Amino acid sequence: MKVAIIGAGIGGLALAQGLQQAGVEVRLYERDPSPAFRRQGFRIHLSEVGEQALAAVLPEKVHRRVIETSTHPGDLVAGFDPQLNQQFAQTFQVGGPDSISSIDRYAFRRAMMTGLDGVLAFGKEFMSYRADEKVEIRFADGTSETADVLVAADGVGSRVRAQLLPEFEVHDSGVRCIYGKIPLTDAVRAVTPPEFLRGFCFVSDGVGAGAAFAPVLFRTPPAEYGDYLMAVLTGTQEQLGRSDDELFSMPLEQLWSLVIKQVADWSPAVRELVDAADASAAFPITLRTCTSVLPWPDGPVVLLGDAAHPMLPSAGAGANTALWDAARLTEALTTHRELAAYREEMLTHGMAAVTESLENGRRMFDLGKF
Ligand SMILES: Cc1cc2nc3c(=O)[nH]c(=O)nc-3n(C[C@H](O)[C@H](O)[C@H](O)COP(=O)(O)OP(=O)(O)OC[C@H]3O[C@@H](n4cnc5c(N)ncnc54)[C@H](O)[C@@H]3O)c2cc1C
Repeated sequence: MKVAIIGAGIGGLALAQGLQQAGVEVRLYERDPSPAFRRQGFRIHLSEVGEQALAAVLPEKVHRRVIETSTHPGDLVAGFDPQLNQQFAQTFQVGGPDSISSIDRYAFRRAMMTGLDGVLAFGKEFMSYRADEKVEIRFADGTSETADVLVAADGVGSRVRAQLLPEFEVHDSGVRCIYGKIPLTDAVRAVTPPEFLRGFCFVSDGVGAGAAFAPVLFRTPPAEYGDYLMAVLTGTQEQLGRSDDELFSMPLEQLWSLVIKQVADWSPAVRELVDAADASAAFPITLRTCTSVLPWPDGPVVLLGDAAHPMLPSAGAGANTALWDAARLTEALTTHRELAAYREEMLTHGMAAVTESLENGRRMFDLGKF
């Protein structure tokens, strides 16, 4: 059996590792031209679901690399008003020395690429497939490949899903985020509220856009950068005061100036942090979600991760669910279980995560019609 996976994101890499470890012939096709750094988001929280899936699919050497490049675990989620009066706080028990509670997406993906030489091909943008006895896969560079099973791990805008399940709807939630990065120099550490170095902290006046801060304190940093504080401004277009055309075409300095403006009369500590950000690392995103996870037709093409169940980040579950899918699909493909059984399990598990993220999203953001 030969398995082709489209997309070397979080789910695709985990599946490729699991299948390679089980001795299955697998190829992973990624449209990015190389593994080099690109804007792809920063800190991702991993739950026990994600940790267990990683332990199930990763060979020991790769698992160790992932642990080494993950961040020191945090123990806090807290909310503050703009003057930094604490509104709520929840503490968590810190796991053992090998526990992974959050990762830097770039460092994580690099670690997950360990040992995939000959499996992972860059610059391969999937265009379409034709499923007959085998699946023929066509790429934008004019080449094609064949496989027995095609896995769509190509994320929220999945082109494979668009062909397999054209009726699937992905909705714009109306919420926009501006992501940024504040390098943790000694001077920045000195002004950072201690809680911001312990976990995910959200600052909001309950009316306008809110700002979240979360630390990325590496066990071993990547070659390209060191510890930083992730900062995210979240609001509707009205709260941010910019149309999408403006937001998504702004020079980066100007984009970050929207965040500076939003916190202008907030606590001096928040203002100092926002001023210390690396504006060139900023980028805007649209939060998108499905409201139903749909079954796809029987056959050799299957969905995984955001391609199957795009969701809001408000339950911290998207990456964890993609990893769960990868572990279950590895099991299905290596124990000769029906692919339909994977689909049924995944529909239930994925829909539960989508529902939770929508419920949290309604409390956290101004979701309007959702
Ligand atoms: C800003 C942000 C913060 C988040 N925070 C969290 C969090 O704290 N916890 C959590 O659990 N989840 C979080 N998520 C969600 C999480 O990132 C996603 O759910 C997860 O990455 C999904 O993994 P995936 O493998 O399905 O897709 P992705 O990781 O998006 O990977 C898709 C891959 O497919 C490639 N690709 C796309 N189209 C093609 C094509 N045509 N041909 C070839 N390759 C293609 C892309 O380049 C990409 O590498 C966050 C998401 C965002 C945007």
